[in-house]
Amino acid sequence: MSSQVSVNQGYNSQLPGSYPHLIPAKTLNPVSGQSNYGGSQTVSPLSNYQGPGQTLYRPPAASNPVTSSLPSVPVPRMPLPASQNPAATPMPSGSFLPGANVQPPLNWQYNYPSTGSQINHCPRSSSQPTISGNTNLTSHQYVSSGDPPLQNNLTKSGIASNTNNGSMVVHNSYDEIEGGGFLATPQYANKNPTMSRSVGYSYPSLPPGYQNTAPPSTTGMPPSSLNYSSGPQGFTQTPLGANHLTASMSGLSLHPEGLRVINLLQERNMLPSTPLQPPVPNLHEDIQKLNCNPELFRCTLTSIPQTQALLNKAKLPLGLLLHPFKDLVQLPVVTSSTIVRCRSCRTYINPFVNFLDQRRWKCNLCYRVNDVPEEFMYNPLTRVYGEPHRRPEVQNATIEFMAPSEYMLRPPQPPVYLFVFDVSHNAVETGYLNSVCQSLLDNLDLLPGNTRTKIGFITFDSTIHFYSLQEGLSQPQMLIVSDIEDVFIPMPENLLVNLNESKELVQDLLKTLPQMFTKTLETQSALGPALQAAFKLMSPTGGRMSVFQTQLPTLGVGALRPREEPNQRSSAKEIHLTPSTDFYKKLALDCSGQQVAVDLFLLSGQYSDLASLGCISRYSAGSVYYYPSYHHQQNPVQVQKLQKELQRYLTRKIGFEAVMRIRCTKGLSIHTFHGNFFVRSTDLLSLPNVNPDAGYAVQMSVEESLTDTQLVSFQSALLYTSSKGERRIRVHTLCLPVVSTLNEVFLGADVQAISGLLANMAVDRSVTASLSDARDALVNAVIDSLSAYHSSVLSSQQPGLMVPFSLRLFPLFVLALLKQKSFQTGTNARLDERIFAMCQVKNQPLVYLMLTTHPTLYRVDNLSDEGALNINDRTIPQPPILQLSVEKLSRDGAFLMDAGSVLMLWVGKNCGQNFLSQVLGVQNYALIPQTMTDLPELDTPESARIIAFISWLREQRPFFPILYVIRDDSPMKANFLQNMVEDRTESALSYYEFLLHIQQQVNK
Ligand SMILES: [Zn+2]
Repeated sequence: MSSQVSVNQGYNSQLPGSYPHLIPAKTLNPVSGQSNYGGSQTVSPLSNYQGPGQTLYRPPAASNPVTSSLPSVPVPRMPLPASQNPAATPMPSGSFLPGANVQPPLNWQYNYPSTGSQINHCPRSSSQPTISGNTNLTSHQYVSSGDPPLQNNLTKSGIASNTNNGSMVVHNSYDEIEGGGFLATPQYANKNPTMSRSVGYSYPSLPPGYQNTAPPSTTGMPPSSLNYSSGPQGFTQTPLGANHLTASMSGLSLHPEGLRVINLLQERNMLPSTPLQPPVPNLHEDIQKLNCNPELFRCTLTSIPQTQALLNKAKLPLGLLLHPFKDLVQLPVVTSSTIVRCRSCRTYINPFVNFLDQRRWKCNLCYRVNDVPEEFMYNPLTRVYGEPHRRPEVQNATIEFMAPSEYMLRPPQPPVYLFVFDVSHNAVETGYLNSVCQSLLDNLDLLPGNTRTKIGFITFDSTIHFYSLQEGLSQPQMLIVSDIEDVFIPMPENLLVNLNESKELVQDLLKTLPQMFTKTLETQSALGPALQAAFKLMSPTGGRMSVFQTQLPTLGVGALRPREEPNQRSSAKEIHLTPSTDFYKKLALDCSGQQVAVDLFLLSGQYSDLASLGCISRYSAGSVYYYPSYHHQQNPVQVQKLQKELQRYLTRKIGFEAVMRIRCTKGLSIHTFHGNFFVRSTDLLSLPNVNPDAGYAVQMSVEESLTDTQLVSFQSALLYTSSKGERRIRVHTLCLPVVSTLNEVFLGADVQAISGLLANMAVDRSVTASLSDARDALVNAVIDSLSAYHSSVLSSQQPGLMVPFSLRLFPLFVLALLKQKSFQTGTNARLDERIFAMCQVKNQPLVYLMLTTHPTLYRVDNLSDEGALNINDRTIPQPPILQLSVEKLSRDGAFLMDAGSVLMLWVGKNCGQNFLSQVLGVQNYALIPQTMTDLPELDTPESARIIAFISWLREQRPFFPILYVIRDDSPMKANFLQNMVEDRTESALSYYEFLLHIQQQVNK
């Protein structure tokens, strides 16, 4: 048997050693030492370089020599559908309703396209699933509790590449290899509603609690209609038949507290003192224990409404939030010559399929009955034959497959890293090159990769500088191209070099680079041409381009003009959130087509039009990093932040040439995607790079009634090339119950996921309509859903603002969004900072988006060990979470605010001497430094506690939040207070005022 399972450690696979696309088609000029590109071209060793002025001109013999002769990658450039054509962005103005003016209520959940997102309409299957002859259904038996945990049994090595039989299947599109959605060639027939009703696992009756709540007055579907067949279904057959998915109530997760109706005007403090947990879907425990971790995959509604009409009534958005490439401690990895997938819809076999018997399984997305392949009958974990239902694929909602050759369009690409540095006068002034080059030197050996890793560097000001790092040179050579109108690549074969072979030259260059431009007077920035050059250089392989920019680009294509008007910052209307040119988006799409992702590091004190520049990352699946006012001396905190973030950036896991598809059970439809990517074909997301810190969101609708369905599933499949050159597929599957009443929909609402999805939608709305539209829509989302709850679920009108327990924090989170940098009004939001915040909303996993929006506040001057966590002999205090209001502060205390990427420790004026001396290490308040970003490690229990707590917070996330210690008279105090979202500001309501406003609208 060839199946193997391993944990996610120690990649071992063999890879094709040579990469066929790297052979340059044409060499411009053989270089030996000082080479010449015709009359006035100069190649100079770095030591001779005296600043700008040495120039390469295009060799006259070959006009356009490089571009025309690049070996082409067999990745087709997909013609852009009109809706994705960068030049064509039709959009309705002002509303989710096309062409309509903003008229409350704005219905977020309607599926009108907005161009800020990428939208598709999945083809619908018009046929019904096949039901094969045998109508006996059974639920398969889940793992017994006696089974050893998967990870303990996995072999860690020897992942054999046993699938390569010598012939490389070359497909002409990724769509084909990953497999489309519902295929156009169904052989479906024989619709059998009785059968489809029995699909999936038996769903237990609802808990008594559900029936005890106020019956819905207008939904017309009493809860009793959910009395599905509750006993064991189908035949009992050893070993599959011992059905324990019975009607037992014990596994139901909803706590009685969850059934409460709350009057927010009376119970104002609904914020739990411990971190808010996502709701647990109301599934039988045997299903739920196999379900996908909500950190990876969650839905705004953990109970899916069975019809669009019901969803419309709830006025809540339906969508998924994903963190698909998150770093995982344990990840089962399967190597098998057969990856078992539904023959019809290409779903990967998963814990929520139904085994009809040992030889057949029924797809939980399209209901097709599939055969179990012979190989799958053997379980590599138990080494038992005849247990397909115990295979790791059927026991893990999150799993990774080693992909055989049919999942490749070309041999897996090598890891390729290209760095593009702004070296204009402005850039040199900031001193950033020192930090970045040092960080690269420190982490050069930690870049994810293997013996095939390639690296290259480009610098630019008004001209573009290339660096030959060919093995054997005594030092790097700089090549200057001054023709920025029609950029060409000199010596393409020596500019991206094998890191191992040229490591010393690379190190030489990194040590020299920061000093090379110190005397430059060149103020211009030809960013656009530099990006074009970088794109050409990377086109043959794909890879990651890291661009460092410190100002508005001024020369050549992609040059931009300042357009921020400080006086208009406070206005929610006339601000420039849309790109001023489509150059960056178009180039990003070209990059995407060649498997190049562009990460932008913007370090600028001046307006740099991030709305335009950011497109280069957004559509190429890159990320944007922003360091406003970066300066190596004047802004040490930013320097520290850049260093820490670069450390993470350079060493974190990376997937190349990736695509992601999200499938859902027939009847549901995914229509709008949020995140950084390009929608390549209908619903296939193109991700030239995927990183573990990126989040995605999608919106969904109910296209066909799910009346006959008890459970629905969602599956994301991410196909990527690892830095070791393996083709892998990471699959997550989430299973949720379908419900028929409005009350159940509300009870299962996930308020964090809803807020996160609304934030994504509001960014689109800000861009396609206006900021004030987006703000109105956010407020209306609360008003509409709570009005629906009032009128359709509550049996009697009660005074106050009644909300279901699940939505008790909804008004607070929406108010927090209104005060978030993306959507706030007032004069302190600089345009680039607002755009960056919007980029973050789109690209961050939900957990960080929520921390940015509604930070957590703790009192930390009196930490105790009561209720502390004990992790590896460390005691980590767990202070209660406080409401974000100055009422919760006191001058004699110290308070820590965790806003995700930043931690702020505000120390009150009268803070106790004990804290000052035992934690801050100062004798009195006046001695707290104005800039303090570290706590001293003192030999006191107080110091140990707070340091343990802060370290623990930092360990919870992949990036490094900077700590600011803030005195009461510090200018940073304003930032701290800005996050007090429950308080009134000059331009925003307090939480209580907001509740009154909502109540007024709801009771209208
Ligand atoms: Zn299927």
